[in-house]
Amino acid sequence: MNEGKTDPILIIGAGMAGLSAARLLRDANLPVLVLDKGRGVGGRMATRRIGHGRVDHGAQFFTVRDRQFAQRVAEWQEAGVVSQWGQGFADAKGSLPSGEYFRYRGVDAMTSVPKHLAEGLNIRLQTRITAVSKESNHWLLRSQSGETFRGRALLLTSPVPQSLELLKAGHVSLPTDIRRELERIEYEPCLALLTVFAGASQIPAPGGLRFSEGPIAWMADNYLKGISPDAHTVTIHATPDFSRHHWQTDEKVVARKLLEAAVRWLHSEVLEWQIHRWRYSQPLTIISEQALLLSGLPSLVFAGDAFGGSRIEGAALSGYAAARILLAKMNG
Ligand SMILES: Cc1cc2nc3c(=O)[nH]c(=O)nc-3n(C[C@H](O)[C@H](O)[C@H](O)COP(=O)(O)OP(=O)(O)OC[C@H]3O[C@@H](n4cnc5c(N)ncnc54)[C@H](O)[C@@H]3O)c2cc1C
Repeated sequence: MNEGKTDPILIIGAGMAGLSAARLLRDANLPVLVLDKGRGVGGRMATRRIGHGRVDHGAQFFTVRDRQFAQRVAEWQEAGVVSQWGQGFADAKGSLPSGEYFRYRGVDAMTSVPKHLAEGLNIRLQTRITAVSKESNHWLLRSQSGETFRGRALLLTSPVPQSLELLKAGHVSLPTDIRRELERIEYEPCLALLTVFAGASQIPAPGGLRFSEGPIAWMADNYLKGISPDAHTVTIHATPDFSRHHWQTDEKVVARKLLEAAVRWLHSEVLEWQIHRWRYSQPLTIISEQALLLSGLPSLVFAGDAFGGSRIEGAALSGYAAARILLAKMNG
């Protein structure tokens, strides 16, 4: 009768939503296993080493509006995990920052926060789940390498189109209205150019620049940001339009076009560059619930920034909401 009671709650995704939920569930003494295909935790809160430097190439900073999230951020600040990175950034026309909210960054890089959240959690990295199926009262996940994971509940925090693919691969059907609502969720793509320069950039302090026209949406000087003390690395994010248009374009052409558009801010030789393709950068549609519980199945919850709001704070709030739902189900 207790079949499945010792199985963990499975969470796909060690990004902000998955880790936030995992912490709360673990704190309530529930067994949790987080699975992620990446080599490290963080998902779109991503940092890469390039040359002698470091580049935040996904999320650049976060803001705080919600009181629950503010409390967590205060704890992270106290623990030396995050710090303030100014109160907004100038735009390329020289307009001064108009930000009313502080911008926060990870102290070492954006991955400082997910690394901190991951401490003490049961996480399997480099584990790409390829199908999710329902077996009587539990979930069975299959990985690319042929492993299986059994769980009494499942939290999906991968970008929604990817979560739907996993359910489809395991022949799990969702109620038609919910499936249609989830299928409507689209994400903007983002081509990111990661660069190392021989000298300092012309990006003004504190190191970020917003663009309202042209192919570039955002540039950041990671040296000025304080996360790349040994090399002048610059992150360039293309606009969604440019990214869509040049998704298949040769990387050398993409890099040349973005560097040409950025030339005014870059006065030294490029030593190294890489392109990263974010297919699911930020959701265009946000579901009104912070986390979505599916009925008629073993507990299945959808969460992530498409539910809580298209930013780091939204992903965290969605993770908290998902944990609350699962706690209520497990204790019910
Ligand atoms: C270029 C860019 C710039 C951004 N800038 C900002 C910013 O400045 N400020 C801000 O607040 N937000 C920003 N964002 C958005 C922010 O990064 C996201 O809202 C937030 O990180 C989403 O967290 P999440 O947990 O919902 O999803 P994710 O971080 O995407 O986590 C999902 C995880 O699921 C894993 N996964 C997916 N499929 C599988 C599978 N089949 N098997 C195993 N694991 C799987 C992925 O590897 C990933 O780690 C930016 C995003 C991008 C890409």
